[in-house]
Amino acid sequence: MARYSSLVKPASQDLLRLTVLRTERLSAHWMRITLGGGDIDRFTPLGFDQWFRIFLPHTGGSGDEGLERIPAKANKIFGYLKYLRIPDGMRPVMRNYTVRAYRPATAGRGAELDVDFVLHGSGPSAGPASRWADAAQPGESVVIIDEGLGFNPERGVEKVALVADETGAPALAGVCASLPATATGFAIIETPSADDILAFDAPAGVEVQWIVREDGVKPGTLALAALQDRAVDPGVHAFIVGEQALPTAARRHLVGERGVDKNAVSFVGYWRVGAASPAPKSQVATAEGSPS
Ligand SMILES: Cc1cc2nc3c(=O)[nH]c(=O)nc-3n(C[C@H](O)[C@H](O)[C@H](O)COP(=O)(O)OP(=O)(O)OC[C@H]3O[C@@H](n4cnc5c(N)ncnc54)[C@H](O)[C@@H]3O)c2cc1C
Repeated sequence: MARYSSLVKPASQDLLRLTVLRTERLSAHWMRITLGGGDIDRFTPLGFDQWFRIFLPHTGGSGDEGLERIPAKANKIFGYLKYLRIPDGMRPVMRNYTVRAYRPATAGRGAELDVDFVLHGSGPSAGPASRWADAAQPGESVVIIDEGLGFNPERGVEKVALVADETGAPALAGVCASLPATATGFAIIETPSADDILAFDAPAGVEVQWIVREDGVKPGTLALAALQDRAVDPGVHAFIVGEQALPTAARRHLVGERGVDKNAVSFVGYWRVGAASPAPKSQVATAEGSPS
């Protein structure tokens, strides 16, 4: 089975240096960071769930120096080993995020790329990417490497079953924006509070179902239950992302109990309760279930 990261390849995997243009607190758990400037003209938008590695400056005086030292192909094994040789205290944090929106340059301004960060936890219990997004300031630098798509349009765009927790909301919004207007199916999105429901456009035939999680419920549990409660056309292209247990269980359900062809299910664990991303190889599920 193809690895998730190779489903639809990006146009280029060069390091792209970008600048934070502005930030916007959208809701209790969402921070939108708009990136541009720098190498933005070398970014090729692909629509759907296009994702990328992002390298965030280490807090403290050496943040930009750390970004300067990121090696080419830091997302591949040899480049990653070189990246690990950047000294502690300078080495940028590497995480995976989704293009929530891309706006081409106009006569009056350069191209822009929106990234929506879930703010999770508080203080030291929050991950470094969440902490960075919470405090990011215009003018800060980041580096990204395009990774292409996990939703492979060749697997079908007319009938879809889309399922995600909050980390997959940007991906589902991007997929819905890229589907043909004639597409049918559903998108189930679990969210940590009613305030975090950020409506997005979808084809008229794609029903968008938001589910609000109560405190103490493991992320992904309610999205899985909602999927299990629905009628599912066995001819769908399913795309399932979120906390590791959700895509794994949802895929098993669709293939084992609903007769969906396993080759028509795109799925990936976006994060894992209790584990920082990227997880060590030994913890990473195989094949498409991992973005590593
Ligand atoms: C292809 C891909 C695309 C993604 N796109 C997005 C996106 O657009 N927006 C987005 O917000 N996330 C997205 N994610 C998920 C994001 O990469 C992870 O949530 C990542 O772990 C966040 O990094 P961190 O530094 O904040 O936390 P980490 O250092 O990775 O983790 C620290 C602790 O926080 C926990 N944690 C991590 N994420 C969450 C969370 N969301 N809720 C609760 N606890 C959490 C971990 O279990 C761990 O215990 C994507 C992941 C992948 C693989």
